[in-house]
Amino acid sequence: MSEHDAVDVIRTKRDGGRLSDGQIDWVLDAYTRGEVADEQMSALAMAILLQGMDRREIARWTQAMIGSGQRLDFESAELGRPTADKHSTGGVGDKITLPLAPLVAACGVAAPQLSGRGLGHTGGTLDKLESIPGWRADLSYEQIVGQLRDVGAVICAATGAIAPADGKLYALRDVTGTVESIPLIASSIMSKKIAEGTAALVLDVKVGSGAFMKGFDDACELARTMVELGVGAGVRTVALLTQMEVPLGRTAGNALEVAESVQVLSGGGPSDVVELTLALAVEMLSAAGVTGVDPAEKLTDGSAMDVWRAMILAQGGDPSASLPTARESHVVVAPVDGYVTMLDAYAVGVAAWRLGAGRARQGDAVSAGAGVVMHAKPGEQVRRGDPVLSLHSDDPARFARALEALEGQWAIGADRLDGGALILGRIDGEAP
Ligand code: URA
Repeated sequence: MSEHDAVDVIRTKRDGGRLSDGQIDWVLDAYTRGEVADEQMSALAMAILLQGMDRREIARWTQAMIGSGQRLDFESAELGRPTADKHSTGGVGDKITLPLAPLVAACGVAAPQLSGRGLGHTGGTLDKLESIPGWRADLSYEQIVGQLRDVGAVICAATGAIAPADGKLYALRDVTGTVESIPLIASSIMSKKIAEGTAALVLDVKVGSGAFMKGFDDACELARTMVELGVGAGVRTVALLTQMEVPLGRTAGNALEVAESVQVLSGGGPSDVVELTLALAVEMLSAAGVTGVDPAEKLTDGSAMDVWRAMILAQGGDPSASLPTARESHVVVAPVDGYVTMLDAYAVGVAAWRLGAGRARQGDAVSAGAGVVMHAKPGEQVRRGDPVLSLHSDDPARFARALEALEGQWAIGADRLDGGALILGRIDGEAP
């Protein structure tokens, strides 16, 4: 008979108390084994969302989630180069992992990117890459290590053996309104990253309507909490705070975002995607201790593209194949002359999702070609009748609901408003 009881743990947090190390270890272990029921964990997650956790509780919670599964160790795999990892807290049009992993590999840093699928209004890296004919997300640990040695970059599915307590808890939070909690987000992300065994980690913490954290202060608190957890686990960790009020780039949708990433790897692409890719690459190189390489050169001289092609081929994909396109499209035009003054990231994410780019439930299929193309973004001029957005879907019946999501969420005005800075802050942590 255990000395702990789920109802006592829930009551402690519900009443604003501090969970002991023993309570945390027990409740996560018992939940992973199915001894604590989903409804009990839902109540505890809601109590944590409402009452918060202090730094010691968050650190212990994270350790217990790591301890629920396997730990990888790329350091002992003798890759012949340092590793660095990047993680974004999730946004709309955020395809940065796609050009970034091959770019840092071209600069001499191995990039193991264990990624997820989209749920809700934010897209998933694996869903995007699966629009490339033949590409496979599932690799064994040996295949990941082999590809890191041969190519330098891997983007693949995280194995279910890494932090299984988080896999279970995240799915539960998603359906119980308990995602937007700083302690729960920080421990969820960092348990996976620490268990994945990277030595250097760069976090891209999104701020704005399309992000989990809508306000700057909350995003800073999340970033600080994650950096502290990383540093506490011996991982060199740095966070950039970046805006997610407006979508990133000009596309939101799976194949559309792959095409835009390939433009960036060809030395072109939207300026915000290029700026953020380069800023994160600089941070990853520095965190991995690599100096004297200019990532911008690796985009223009074709070496990042060479790694991309090798990375796609190594996972069964055809980098030269044409990407799927949606069967139908609908163009939204400017009703007047002027400047785009607003384009809400959350609305674009919901529209892309309703067009078929995302899934409502885990396991649903996504449409490769569905999504939104943004022809004009805030600060850009349009004439009456110019296309502002085009919607793409295999099913024309989906256009009405996507248009509904966008209603009142973009605007054209007489004055040109500056889109604002993309990179809003930086939080650095020195590993002990
Ligand atoms: N991503 C995660 O992995 N976990 C969260 O809680 C939120 C975003």
